[in-house]
Amino acid sequence: MPRKLAAGNWKMNGLAASLDALHTLADRHVDASVDVLICPPATLISACMNLPISVGGQDCHANASGAHTGDISAEMLADAGAKAVLTGHSERRADHGETDAQVAAKSLAAYRAGLRAIICIGETLGQRDAGTTLDIIDGQLAGSVPDTATATNTVIAYEPVWAIGTGKVPTLDQIAEVHAHIRMRLETRFADGSDFTLLYGGSVKGSNAAEIFAVPHVNGALVGGASLKADDFSPIIAALENA
Ligand code: PEP
Repeated sequence: MPRKLAAGNWKMNGLAASLDALHTLADRHVDASVDVLICPPATLISACMNLPISVGGQDCHANASGAHTGDISAEMLADAGAKAVLTGHSERRADHGETDAQVAAKSLAAYRAGLRAIICIGETLGQRDAGTTLDIIDGQLAGSVPDTATATNTVIAYEPVWAIGTGKVPTLDQIAEVHAHIRMRLETRFADGSDFTLLYGGSVKGSNAAEIFAVPHVNGALVGGASLKADDFSPIIAALENA
C-alpha cells in the first residue's frame, strides 16, 4: 500500500521567525497517522532539527561537491537533517531550464545521499489545451524517473503547471485520469509500482483537500501556499488522515 504523505513546499519564503508556524504544526500533528514533510528554504533546515517533523530540500545539485557556486548537494541536505528533496519542480524547470535528464540526475543524487526524491511532473495549460497531457506525463516519467526508483526512495508529484499558485484546480476527473495513468506506467516499469506514493499538487487547500484525496491513486498532496501557515496546512493533513 502507498504511504500517505502531506508535503509542504515553502519555496523562497520563510525567515527564522517563520519557524513558529512549524512549531504549531508539529505540536498539532506529532501523532499524525500520515507522513508530514515540510520543505523550507535550505537556510532553515538545520533550525528545524529540534522539531518532531520531517524536513526536505527543494532542489539539489547532481554532484556531491565541487565548483558550483550557490548550489547545494543532496549530501549537504542530508547532513543538515533533510530526509527528502523535491526534484523537477515546475518552477525549477521553468526558471532554471531544468531538463528531464537533469531531474533524473538530481533524483539519483538524492538516492546516493539516502534522501527520498519527490519527483515533480505536470503539463502546462497549452499542453493540456492541445490534448497532449498524457504524452507529456509519459515523457517526464520516462526521462525524470531513474530506473533505480523504488516506492521507498521515490514519490511522484503530479502538479499541473497551470494549477500551481493560481487557485485553479483540475476537475476530479482530470486528476483521476492522470493519476491512474501514472500508476499504470509505474506498475508496468517497476516491480513495486503499485506502492509508490502519488501526490497531487496545485492550489490544494483545506476546502478542496477531502475531495481530491478521495480520487483513486491520490495518496497525498504537495502544497505550496497553504503550507505556510499552520492553520491552513492543518486541515489538509486532517483531510488526508480521514481519507
Ligand atoms: C507547489 O509549489 O508545488 C504548489 C503546488 O503550490 P500551490 O499549492 O501554492 O499551488
